[in-house]
Amino acid sequence: MENNPFIKKWRKGLRKIALVYPNAYASGVANIGLQYIYAYLNSLENCICERFYLDIHNCLRSFESGTPLSDFDIALFSLQFEEDYFNVVKILKESGFKGLKIAGGPCAMINPKPIAKYFDAFVIGEVENSRVLDVIAEARSVEDLECEGVWLKEGKVKRIYPKRLDFYLRRQIIADNVFGRCLILEIGRGCIRRCRFCVVRQIYSPPRWRDLKLLIDTAEDYKGVVDKICLVAPSTLDHPRAKELIARLIEMGFLVSPSSTRADKLDEETVELLVKGGLRSLTIAPEVGSDKLRDILNKGLSEEHILNAVEIGKEKGINSFKLYFMIGLPNESFEDVKEIVRLVEKIKSLKVEVSVSINPFVPKPHTPLQWCSYTGIERVEDGLKEIKRRREYLIKELSKICEVNVESVERFAIQTILSRGDEDVSKLLEAKPSLRLAKKMNLTRYLEKIPLDSELPWDFIDHGYKKERLIKEFIQAVWSE
Ligand code: SF4
Repeated sequence: MENNPFIKKWRKGLRKIALVYPNAYASGVANIGLQYIYAYLNSLENCICERFYLDIHNCLRSFESGTPLSDFDIALFSLQFEEDYFNVVKILKESGFKGLKIAGGPCAMINPKPIAKYFDAFVIGEVENSRVLDVIAEARSVEDLECEGVWLKEGKVKRIYPKRLDFYLRRQIIADNVFGRCLILEIGRGCIRRCRFCVVRQIYSPPRWRDLKLLIDTAEDYKGVVDKICLVAPSTLDHPRAKELIARLIEMGFLVSPSSTRADKLDEETVELLVKGGLRSLTIAPEVGSDKLRDILNKGLSEEHILNAVEIGKEKGINSFKLYFMIGLPNESFEDVKEIVRLVEKIKSLKVEVSVSINPFVPKPHTPLQWCSYTGIERVEDGLKEIKRRREYLIKELSKICEVNVESVERFAIQTILSRGDEDVSKLLEAKPSLRLAKKMNLTRYLEKIPLDSELPWDFIDHGYKKERLIKEFIQAVWSE
């Protein structure tokens, strides 16, 4: 059941735009950027926009009126996760959609080449305050889509973004989303930190925060509509007025939950506020077990910060901690992997509940670690073998002391291929994905270390950084040992 659904009446002559989220409703409806696009397109006189979700009619008929996707003139796909590419290909095939196919979202901004074959154009950036949506709404052919921030599959493109976040969606759809039933308050974009593995800081730069008054005014409109507010940003507690904002929202009677927390921002006052706001468990991302590897990642977090945060949390009444780690990083040794177990043991010794989630590291485009091999080991076969050994070790040791989930090495290898590949990767998308098939198709070469002077499939996107800076950081991180 949705509050505030924007249902526009059908009439003859309207341009029909399908907003397709090739994944579950609960995560799609939580995406405030998509809500903005939906509201904006429906506000245009000559246009109707309806939503499509994978778990509602398999994305083949619309959420609002059940209209088949094939009846729409334009399909706008949101690419949030590389693994959704398989769903995209299936949806396009099964729907028989013949209109204009456009994609946007973080995967399009990172590297759209592997999925390029299936679309006419890609939106590279954030569309608010740009001409892109008006251009899309008027477009009758691919040529009509020519505009700043749209990549028509040749040449270079510069990312677009609003310089200031001085606007906010006034009629948000409230639904049961991945954060629960809540108002989503996007407090900022981009990140002031410089973690070397993180693509968010690169593709959403520069960091931009919403003004406290705008956020409070927006929340005011939802008093009596929702009990809870989820604060969304890549690093929520870095908002210059985060504490004041949380305190004000609590005073207004809301429960408050941040979408992310950094251990070094969890001081006594902040944790006390978060507990008052209803937080019962804390998520911390140490990323790795040792300070040495954390320095390579430029995480800006020490073991002391992590242990401090747990101690403060416990003192303020939080007893459950979720920890995120990665394996397969450059320069990682088996001893470093053992350090993860040691750190978790140390946290457990503080007598708190711990659950651990570990992902193999994906060297993402546009980051200083983009040239690294998947697994961090030079020869792909050796790397895959070794990282599987590390994974098994972690499952065996950590499951003795806490709940643990270590993601599949194969699954993340495929993700790396989809993230770093070129157009030839598209042939993998119509099959059932497996590493064996990727190998047969000669695609496992995208798991290899990349020479620093290579031209990269995603070099055509200008995100505003200088490649020389990334190279410098890569050298500092990986070769400075
Ligand atoms: S703090 Fe989080 S969002 Fe910011 S750069 Fe580091 S990993 Fe990325």
